[in-house]
Amino acid sequence: MARRNSIGRVDALCRKAIPQEPPFDIRIHGAVGPARGLLQKMLEAGIRARPDDKNFSELIKTGFERRTIRESVRWLNAIRREYGLEAVDIPVQMVHVMDPAVFETYMRRYRGVRGRKPMPAGTTRFPHALMKRVADGAECVMNTTHEVVHLAAYTLFLFRADMDIGHLRFTADSRVDIRRSGLRVGDDGFLGLNEAITEYIARVIRQKMAESGGLSDRLKKKVIGFGTYEPQIAVLERVVRELFENQDYGMSIAIWDYFTGSNDFLLHIRRQRPEMIRPLRGMNGYEKSALETAKALGFTEEAREIRHMIKTGEYW
Ligand SMILES: [Zn+2]
Repeated sequence: MARRNSIGRVDALCRKAIPQEPPFDIRIHGAVGPARGLLQKMLEAGIRARPDDKNFSELIKTGFERRTIRESVRWLNAIRREYGLEAVDIPVQMVHVMDPAVFETYMRRYRGVRGRKPMPAGTTRFPHALMKRVADGAECVMNTTHEVVHLAAYTLFLFRADMDIGHLRFTADSRVDIRRSGLRVGDDGFLGLNEAITEYIARVIRQKMAESGGLSDRLKKKVIGFGTYEPQIAVLERVVRELFENQDYGMSIAIWDYFTGSNDFLLHIRRQRPEMIRPLRGMNGYEKSALETAKALGFTEEAREIRHMIKTGEYW
């Protein structure tokens, strides 16, 4: 699979990046020989055909929603270009807008969401994103920029084969797991860190949108300087400050790993400050978890900041 993005390839004649599908790899355990290649093809086709939850209907997107998706992808690719990465192709059809009640049922049935308040506004089922319809334009911009970044994250699928090679069909014990998405490992390892980087990139996208004149003044006021996962971002920024002389450089290593599947950021932490790994691995998407992580890492100033955020709700 030549899908994994490495250094950007720029066409010498038209100087225009050739868009690629978002990067993903499949690792197969348990299958050997010719069956392995065939299996790889079946899995790739299966992943492209998602989502398979056909009972959940999507709404026809409004003009604003379509524009927001297109602009988000455009500025996402501008950021990738700054890293020498190829543009990814995320067509508008890969982002699905759902009725809020339908979205909620989907999350409860398929994504194991149990009474979480607030319910997430969107989710990624690579290479698709699903979002609930929101009435507020600013909220739509916030959600779309965030989900589109998730879609461009490097994704690694792990397939555990227990196949009947005679028939080449999947048995009940076959399983496909997402081993890695961005910086997330498995279901919930480094989940909060991954969300922090996702939202950090989404903030840059919104900034670029605003600078290009793509947002009204009203929207600009509501989407610049605000975002989700602020407590997790506070932890991430402090980690970067602790470990890198230059903050932009440290963030760029984390972002590079997020897009390419490298592991330099966490390896650097593991080498320099191994005691940080365990709390960071455990940080999830809840604000309380970010607070616990800040405390475990001895980040007293950030812990105070996060407590204030929780009390006042002064973030998204
Ligand atoms: Zn997210």
